[in-house]
This record gives sequence, structure tokens and C-alpha cells, in this order.
Amino acid sequence: MSTAPVRVRFAPSPTGALHVGGVRTALFNYLFARHHGGEFLLRIEDTDQKRYVPKAEEYIMEALAWCGISPDYSPKTGGPDAPYRQSERKPMYRQYAEQLVASGHAYYAFDTEEELETMRENAEKAGMKNWQYNAITRQNMRNSLTLPADEVQRLLDGGANYVVRMKIPRNEEIRFEDAIRGWVLFQTNQLDDKVLMKQDGMPTYHLANVVDDHLMHITHVIRGEEWLPSAPLHVYMYQCFGWTAPVFAHLPLLLSPDGKGKLSKRDGDKHGFPIFPLDWHNPETGETAKGYREAGYLPDAFINFLALLGWNPGNDQEILTREEMVKLFTLERVGKSGVKFDKAKSVWFNATYLRALTPAELLPHLKAQLAAAGVAHTRDDAFLLSVVPLIQERAEYLTDLAPQAAPYLVAPQTFDPELVAKRWNPQGAEFIAGLLPQLQSFEPWEEAPLEAFVKETVEAAGLGLGKVMPALRLALTNRMQGAELFRIFELLGREETLARLEAALARL
Ligand code: GLU
Repeated sequence: MSTAPVRVRFAPSPTGALHVGGVRTALFNYLFARHHGGEFLLRIEDTDQKRYVPKAEEYIMEALAWCGISPDYSPKTGGPDAPYRQSERKPMYRQYAEQLVASGHAYYAFDTEEELETMRENAEKAGMKNWQYNAITRQNMRNSLTLPADEVQRLLDGGANYVVRMKIPRNEEIRFEDAIRGWVLFQTNQLDDKVLMKQDGMPTYHLANVVDDHLMHITHVIRGEEWLPSAPLHVYMYQCFGWTAPVFAHLPLLLSPDGKGKLSKRDGDKHGFPIFPLDWHNPETGETAKGYREAGYLPDAFINFLALLGWNPGNDQEILTREEMVKLFTLERVGKSGVKFDKAKSVWFNATYLRALTPAELLPHLKAQLAAAGVAHTRDDAFLLSVVPLIQERAEYLTDLAPQAAPYLVAPQTFDPELVAKRWNPQGAEFIAGLLPQLQSFEPWEEAPLEAFVKETVEAAGLGLGKVMPALRLALTNRMQGAELFRIFELLGREETLARLEAALARL
């Protein structure tokens, strides 16, 4: 275990929208860094030009900012080891590839794409699947291990195309202690001679990743389980460079809700939940996807939910503040096995966080949602604040706020014919008409006395509550759901309540 101050990184490739699994990786790195009073940096791994997607980097930064996962260093902020975008570091990598060639751990390979293809095809014809460039097959290829030294020099001087490959030895064991999985053992015969530097002089993921983790003094590499197969190569590269390897920690996979396979966009579409933090629009392909932010999640609820996908605080506590998460976060409490994604749980977290907001905290959200939904009203903040408790108990998403608040802010302009057919009735209407003059002078205009009075009057008239209550609700709000009926009376006040009832009687 390293004794250097903790420094971790989140190293996404800008190949599209950041998946929730990626956000969780960033979050665990962030929590780990904060727990240890260390540093957390964002490094953009954009060496694969073919997979580069414009706007993806911006998306990653915006998503992290929305979640409140702020890196100490990033391409935006700079820092002691800048630049933090690998494409801007390109000239730095060649010397490390050359260093491995010089020490006999890597070599130049001159094979063309066609030659490689032919080898693959021939191998397949001979019944071998998954041909690999490795300790056996490299002997039949054109590289600096098989060609005479002067021929190699001639090719290099003549500007021949080549890649640099790692020379993976045969019959050796590579082991390392993963902070989550314990000892992990690989046989080198399972590995191939991975390309470290491509023909265009760009490093591959493996070279750039290891070199940068070393140069940036990364102490712990916390990343998704899908990178576990790359770990033995990385561990071996550290050995060849003579560098101390960071501690590796491979996080468990996020699985689809039924536990079958990795969580995918298809699962999200099928079960109706986003798998991206923000709405995404790929400017090149036109592909779009929904995000948690736009679906009406609070960022704190979202990260609390994500934190518990694979980590537990050691007790049954589910609602944790950011400070509590930082205090309790350790890699020992991260599990090994894949975690099923649970939509209902994510909604529960959001609703719980929504309910815990004070009216003053909820007010700006309500105003933003009303504006976004185009609800035109003339009410002031004081009135909006009095609406908050009525909608807060029922809202699961921020996007529920505007449709739930609107009926209290704006009198019905029209009535839903289906509701009218079901709930409006002559006796009810007649009763309401008779009630109006009595309500003119009723005191006090408060929920409980109003409720007692109206119910007694209904009974005295020999009517069922079912004839009257739904009709009153319909007349006031044009809805069947909502807050307690007489809370709405109290909220609207005498004047507005009577005006709405009169208008409904006139129209229905
Ligand atoms: N660029 C890799 C990715 O896209 C980084 C993996 C790692 O953390 O080493 O996830």
C-alpha cells in the first residue's frame, strides 16, 4: 500500500454520453479522495480519434458539475500535471514506448493491416479461433524481433509504417491485490502483445493510461470491472518501467433490473428510467437519450442512490448526506458482485429528498418548473410557498411540481368532459348552489371547521358525500387528485373559492 497522499482520477473517453455506471465510478473516486483528504482529477482519454464524439467532453463536465462531483484538476482548471487531455499530451508518450523497446519489453511491428488479416484468416481456416499476436505467433510476423537489425533500421529510417507492441512473456504469472477483489491471478499466455503506439504516433489507451497514472502520481486506480482484463497488462507494464503500480480497485458491474447482463440503454427504455445523468443529443448521429436531470431528479438524491449501488455504509442507513458519505466511504465496503439497478428505489430516493426540502428550498425548483411548463399565473412567492406543502407530499419528481401546483394557481378554464360525465350531477350542483350564500359568511375560513360544516350540511340535506365532494373538487380544480379538499378551500381563500364555484355552476 502506497504511503503517498491519496490522488485518484476519473478518466473517461469522450465517446458518447456518460453512462450512470461512469458517474458512479467518478463518485466513488471523489468520495475516496475526500475521505482521505486527497485529490481527485479528471483526465480526458481522447487518444482514439475514431471513437471521438464532439460534445461528449462538455457533457461529461456538465454531468459532473450537476452531481456536485468537482475535480481538483481537470482540462478546465489545469493543475500541477496539466494538460489533462491526452490528445494534448501526445508528444510525451513516444519516449515511454521507446524506453520499453530499449529495455527489451516492447518491439516494433511492421505488419500491414492486410498481413494481419491474412494471418487471422489462415488461422481460422486451420480451426483456430481468436488469433492473437503473441509470444508464439509473433515469430512468424514482421517485427524487430524476427527481422535482422539492419533491416529494422532501414525500415525505420525509410519511414516505414510500424506500431510498437508490448512483448508479453510466455508461461508467467501476473498477480496483484485488488482492493475490492483481493488477489487476482492471470497467466501471461492469456494476454496478447497489445499495441502501445499506433502508426500515427498516437498512444493506445494502455500506454497513455499507465504513463499518465504514473506521471500524475495516481495512488489508486478505481474503475469499472470491465477494465479488469486490462489490469494484468498494466501491472506488467509498471514492472517493465520499474515504477510502483497504484493500488487497483475494480468496481462491480451495474446490472439490468432482472440481473441478466450489464445495464444498458435498452433496459432503461424498457423499464422507463434514464441511464444517463443529463439529456444527450449526439450532434453527429442525431441519437438522443433522456437524462436524470431532465426527468426531475435532485442531484443529491441521484448521487445518494448511486453511492449505494455497490457500496454500503456498514449499517442500514440509506439516506446519507454528502458529508456522511465522505466520512464513511471505504473500498472495503464495496462489494464484488454485480448490482441490479432498481428503478423503484431511485424514485424512492428522489421522493424522499424532495419531501425533505424546506418550502424555501423547494420554491426555486417550483418556479423553474412552472416557467418550463409554461404555467402563466399571477401569484406571488408567499402564495407559492403556501402551495408547497400541498404538492410536496405527492411529488416524486421535480417535473411533478408544475402539473400539481397549476390547479391551485390558475382557475380551471375548461372542464374535462370525462370527469364531468362521471362526477358532476344535478343534486350535487343544486347543493353547491345552495351552499354558496352560507359560505359567504362562514367563519373561520379554515380546513377543519369548513370540512365539518360542509359535511354536516350534506348529511342534513339527505345526500351522500359521493354526490357532493367529487363535484366540489371538480368545480375547484378540474382534477380528481390533489390535496385534501378543504385544504384547497383554505389555501384559495373565501373569495377565490366562491368565484371558482360560481364559475363552474355557470358553465357546467
Ligand atoms: N478511458 C477509460 C474509460 O473510458 C479509462 C479506464 C480506466 O479508468 O483506466 O473508462
